[in-house]
Amino acid sequence: MNIRFLALEKTFGRKPVEITPVTKRSDIFESKVFNDEKMRQYLDEKSYKQFQQIKFEGKVIDRRLADHIAAAMKRWAMEQGATHYTHWFQPLTGATAEKHDSFLEKTPDGYPLEKFTGSQLAQQEPDASSFPSGGLRNTFEARGYTAWDPASPAFIIGTTLCIPSVFISYNGEALDYKTPLIRSIQFLDKYATRTARLFNRNVERVYATLGWEQEYFLIDKALYKSRPDLVMTGRTLLGHPPAKNQQLDDHYFGSIPERVMAFMRDLEIEALKIGIPVKTRHNEVAPNQYEVAPVFEEVNLAVDHNSMLMDLMKKIASRHHFEVLLHEKPFDYINGSGKHNNWSLMTDTGINLLGPGDTPRRNLRFLTFFVNVIKAVNDYEELIRASIASAGNDHRLGANEAPPAIISVFIGHYLTQVMNELKQVKNGKLSPDEKTELKLEVVGKIPQILKDNTDRNRTSPFAFTGNKFEIRAVGSSANCASPMTVLNTIVGYQLKRFLTDYEKLRAKGLKKDEAIFNILRDYIKSSERILFEGNGYSPEWHREAARRGLSNLKTTPEALRVIKKEKIIRLFEESGVYSRAELKSRYHVHLEQYNTKLEIEARVLSDLISNHIVPTVINYQNRLAESLNRLKNLYPKKAQMWKNNEKILTDVSETFNELLEAHQTLKEALEHLTRTDDDDKKADFIIEKIKPSMAKVRQLSDKLELMIDDELWSLTKYREMLFTR
Ligand code: ADP
Ligand code: MG
Repeated sequence: MNIRFLALEKTFGRKPVEITPVTKRSDIFESKVFNDEKMRQYLDEKSYKQFQQIKFEGKVIDRRLADHIAAAMKRWAMEQGATHYTHWFQPLTGATAEKHDSFLEKTPDGYPLEKFTGSQLAQQEPDASSFPSGGLRNTFEARGYTAWDPASPAFIIGTTLCIPSVFISYNGEALDYKTPLIRSIQFLDKYATRTARLFNRNVERVYATLGWEQEYFLIDKALYKSRPDLVMTGRTLLGHPPAKNQQLDDHYFGSIPERVMAFMRDLEIEALKIGIPVKTRHNEVAPNQYEVAPVFEEVNLAVDHNSMLMDLMKKIASRHHFEVLLHEKPFDYINGSGKHNNWSLMTDTGINLLGPGDTPRRNLRFLTFFVNVIKAVNDYEELIRASIASAGNDHRLGANEAPPAIISVFIGHYLTQVMNELKQVKNGKLSPDEKTELKLEVVGKIPQILKDNTDRNRTSPFAFTGNKFEIRAVGSSANCASPMTVLNTIVGYQLKRFLTDYEKLRAKGLKKDEAIFNILRDYIKSSERILFEGNGYSPEWHREAARRGLSNLKTTPEALRVIKKEKIIRLFEESGVYSRAELKSRYHVHLEQYNTKLEIEARVLSDLISNHIVPTVINYQNRLAESLNRLKNLYPKKAQMWKNNEKILTDVSETFNELLEAHQTLKEALEHLTRTDDDDKKADFIIEKIKPSMAKVRQLSDKLELMIDDELWSLTKYREMLFTR
């Protein structure tokens, strides 16, 4: 029996795995997290207070305090059954990393003892020479350090205490996703707080919030394992679309299959224990596609929680004989997966700065932040595109299922009107009447109109949705830190410019509101090209966007080149988020990742053709030829008895021949690729030669799949992976 039928047999009659139900979710929430409440309980009062004051400041925590916290953490963790600890971090591989150390140590006189010191909490030195650094770290001085991030609480998985950490080189250069994110949070805080204080002197701190929505596919484990391409690359490289896929839209928000529901409940329970506040679950558009979303949180924590969840999903899925596919495009012809990033700004006084209020005063504050975000996106649209670039995401962007690779901002009909009215504000000082009119007619109306503002444009990559912006072009497997770092930085940078512009106008004698209105008018005028309310999937928009001078970077290598531009380097250097050297290293790491992924895909595809498709087709050809011969012998004079059989054989053989030729081309291209060692040249060659040859091979193989005896076909088919539940 071929591997496909073995796998299918395994899936027959799979029952949901029983899980212990938890009815009251609040009982288990953060039960495995060393949160503030536990800290208060396990730590002396003075240390607790000291820690609360500095945990967001990014300062080095003094030795004495670190020792106290470590002792408290250890006591709590051991009560929970933990035996090991690890610094848990997010290197540029895209996966999370951990290296476990036992609490067990020996005293000098040989007694075993459970120990965990402040310096062990603060820093760990994994043998990290195999993590990508893009040249920041030579292997002979491969030391990379992980350092505790006190802003994200420790948690326990299994019997291991996990300490969220950053990963840096010996010289303090960022080797991970989290370090630049934290820098961007601090940079944004500085200028957003100053801006917010123009409206409310009590604001001491502003932080970004993130609410992600994670899409994924769930495939039976046995079927997954029967597909070498899924196992090796996370996506299928071959496969004809099933007759029924998502045309009927019957999966979206449909009732959740029982087996899947058992997985979701189990996942939610485990997620809640480690503090991920999951809230929403539903079916997505494609068959076997689902979504999970939490309540939004402070961005640093939300990023950690998304990485933790992606990790957890894999583990829990295994228990339920499922495999989670986080790839952006696991199945061609069928919708891929994304991860909407809902982003906003919050003050320590509890105000959402992107939420309109019910007075003109509050709305002027809202408009100030709103327009500054739009201007930031306008000025750095290319960089946003670069921040979501990956080999997987290239399949989605612009494929009529996800927003195009063109970044534009959707704000809805009413706010468009408000923008148009603000554009009319006259230059310089305003008369009392003009001011009153602005406040009553334009600014004052916003809260009412937003309540009825339900028009949402799903085709926009960057949409304002009532009290937050939603970035919809992020890939499902991405680390949210990447787009979040960019957004925080460009908005912080823009607010810094706003404050300078503001001071200039104030120095010219303009009143506060006048100055703000004048600046907003100019910003709106200079960033109008980024606003787009129409259908982002339409070909007209591509033409219009080109006319407006917006970038349309269709591939990852093109998008990555943005971070080599002087304008971008300056932005990051001035904001202190990345140094020039760090940017250079990121460029190399990401480009190399892209090349490696595609090279692996091309190799796996080539192997599948050689080892699965070619033998299967030959087998079928033989059968056809044999039966044709017999028929010819039986009816030598009656060609009508076998001419259609002959046609079947001819069709198969012709397509097969084309496939063999296309495969030959792919193999030669692969050889050329192996001989190329410059990464930029490699990337160009992949786009010009490798990808088109892969597409050609696939098209022919998928055509053959329809022609060949189902019983002989050895690769599990789309309909089986997508409709087995
Ligand atoms: P959808 O996009 O599916 O229609 P909603 O707009 O209701 O769903 O909310 C999507 C997400 O927005 C939720 O996960 C929620 O956590 C997040 N969200 C809501 N308010 C904020 C905020 N102020 N900052 C960041 N994320 C937010
Ligand atoms: Mg959404």
